Amino acid sequence: MRLLPKNLVIHQWVVEANKLKLSPISVSTDGHRMHLAMPAAVQAYNRMAADAKKQNIQLKIIWAFRSASTQAQQFEEARRKHGKRGAIRWLAPPGYSEHHTGWAIDVGDETDPQADDNPLFERTPAFRWLKTNARRHGFELSFPPKNWQGIGYEPWHWRFVGTPEARETFYPKKFSALGVWGVSWTEAVRRWIFG
Ligand SMILES: [Zn+2]
Repeated sequence: MRLLPKNLVIHQWVVEANKLKLSPISVSTDGHRMHLAMPAAVQAYNRMAADAKKQNIQLKIIWAFRSASTQAQQFEEARRKHGKRGAIRWLAPPGYSEHHTGWAIDVGDETDPQADDNPLFERTPAFRWLKTNARRHGFELSFPPKNWQGIGYEPWHWRFVGTPEARETFYPKKFSALGVWGVSWTEAVRRWIFG
């Protein structure tokens, strides 16, 4: 149950991955950009994509690692497009995106490019397949409908939690949890008040 004000959106504060630790995960659809992710997530994704392919499901990567500076540009664009209050529900501010960690991926369906990175993804065979099979490969949906963080439902956005390191990034424990969620809540309230 959600008891928080409707416009309060809590994006988790994360530490940006060291770029030197990242591995290539796929080439972007325009062929220009090489997406990067943490090696354990790359391995798991490759296994998952191969498994999907056996059942005629064609997964593709739309986004993986994203730096805070790229996020800053995208966030400014989103604010221009959706307004201060609107943007925050769909895009994390720089420093608060799961994509900074190298553990999160945006997945698309090769057969339905119209559904890339938008709510239409729910209609794709890829999404239906992921819903039953992603967990087995260590991936989970970060922002299901009506999530407690108040973030818009993102059927395309999956995070890897299949190793202790990855899991603790999204489920920090004890003191680390206090730090992470303390910063996250402070930022959320600040943005809620000041926009
Ligand atoms: Zn995403």
